[in-house]
Amino acid sequence: MFDIWKKAEKSVVLHGSKMNVIESCIERHASEYPDKIAFVFENESGRIKKYTYAELKTEVNRFANLLKKLEIKKGERIFIFLPKCPELYISFLASVKHGSIAAPLFEAFQTQGLELRLNRGNANVLITNKQLLTRLENRRKFKNMKIIVVDSSEHKRQIKKCENEFDSVLVDKKDTAVMIFTSSTAGTPVAGIELPHQGLIQQHYTADLVLDLKPEDKYWCTAHPGWVTGSVYGILAPLSIGCTNYVYESHFKADKWLDFLRKHKISVVYTAPTVLRMFKYDIRKRDLKYVRNLCSVGEALTKTTFNYIKKLGVSINDTYWQTETGAMVIANWPGLKKKSGSMGKAIPGIKISIIDKTIHLKPAWPAMMTGIYKHDKMYKGYFKNGWFKTNDMAKLDKQGYFFFIGRKDDIIKTAGERVSPIEIENVLIKHKNVKEAAVIGIPDKLKGSIIKAFIVLNKNIKADDNLKEELKTFVKKNYAGHSYPKEIQFIDKLPKTNSGKIIRAKLREEEK
Ligand code: AMP
Repeated sequence: MFDIWKKAEKSVVLHGSKMNVIESCIERHASEYPDKIAFVFENESGRIKKYTYAELKTEVNRFANLLKKLEIKKGERIFIFLPKCPELYISFLASVKHGSIAAPLFEAFQTQGLELRLNRGNANVLITNKQLLTRLENRRKFKNMKIIVVDSSEHKRQIKKCENEFDSVLVDKKDTAVMIFTSSTAGTPVAGIELPHQGLIQQHYTADLVLDLKPEDKYWCTAHPGWVTGSVYGILAPLSIGCTNYVYESHFKADKWLDFLRKHKISVVYTAPTVLRMFKYDIRKRDLKYVRNLCSVGEALTKTTFNYIKKLGVSINDTYWQTETGAMVIANWPGLKKKSGSMGKAIPGIKISIIDKTIHLKPAWPAMMTGIYKHDKMYKGYFKNGWFKTNDMAKLDKQGYFFFIGRKDDIIKTAGERVSPIEIENVLIKHKNVKEAAVIGIPDKLKGSIIKAFIVLNKNIKADDNLKEELKTFVKKNYAGHSYPKEIQFIDKLPKTNSGKIIRAKLREEEK
């Protein structure tokens, strides 16, 4: 096991116990092949912007110099709240290069979802644009937080004045590079998972083994960097390999996304099964003509989805991991015999066992989270008897293949995006007519699961369809556009334990 990671270390730039991932992701490529394209961005109106590795280095350096000018210190938390535009990627890389922590946020969060995360993460800086900044309502509450508005003339003036050179700040390899806010049912509904610089050893290794990425590849990861896949396999790992990364800024539209795939001759794709299901009625064999490797993550890959893609001449390599694991831990990779319905085998170097029907991993592997920001007790709760608990139930066959069963806790995966029921319940009960709320995920053919809320209304409130719509809009507008309840049911009382805890499992059982 140890030998595998020792060998894998050789693919990234290390200085004993110190490192900065940017040396592997940008510097080495910028000096070896400066004119090679690192990023190609295409926006909704078809405008294309390209950055060579040398140009990316310069842009990142200028941004890092801006952070320095603003007196941002090493280890401070830089929240990035932007759509998938170049400034998101540049400021992310600059934050890490500068020795501070990049904390990207999914753009669909509304005021409450955004402010909750900024508050929990003690944000030192918020990088956003004019439109998304309007969602920050309580400016007073964040008076010590610096705000950079990337489309403001002030920012454009500032960045122009910044120098083109900046040396990567070397940190301890276990220091946090990226913080991803994710949902949980333990401790608090949302918390910042701390991922270390040294995670790149495993991220590079799996990008090579599983995504099979080569420097000459044209690679498209469809995830927003606010989700761990978008940060790790949408920025760090592929840049470390040195391939060309494609980013489509447009929201999902099957015909547009398929055009993008064909037009740019994308060779490797990493996406979620929901995206593949949404393609189903539009995709043709010719759309996948250039795709050499198609990988999926984030939710169960059903046999139906696997088979319909296979009929188009490509088979999917399903992969399994979590924000907390920091990189893939189970996967199918090219050359590994696939078993129908299986997520694949343990990544070499990772020891996995099924204990109490759930996946347990033997610590430590390089990319494993090093902490949960300000939630030490919650972090410690992941470990028991020398094992790390994932809370995902699975079966393991004699040949070492894993078969996903479901979550052991109440976490919901909708369209591959992770949501804690508690987050949504906390929003619903703020509505003037709601007395109590319980939220669960129910099966959905397209999105894997959708969110359903059970609502107990205050006395004398009329339960009708108008109120259902009002409650959906209430969550969508106040908390997050992607995690509102698509179904609502009014109920007289919620099932609870003697101590008053909601029994969501009972509600799920009744839905079957
Ligand atoms: P996240 O931390 O947002 O990446 O979500 C991690 C969770 O997504 C895991 O704990 C699983 O519940 C689920 N997940 C990830 N990959 C797979 C997969 N290949 N099959 C089924 N569920 C998955």
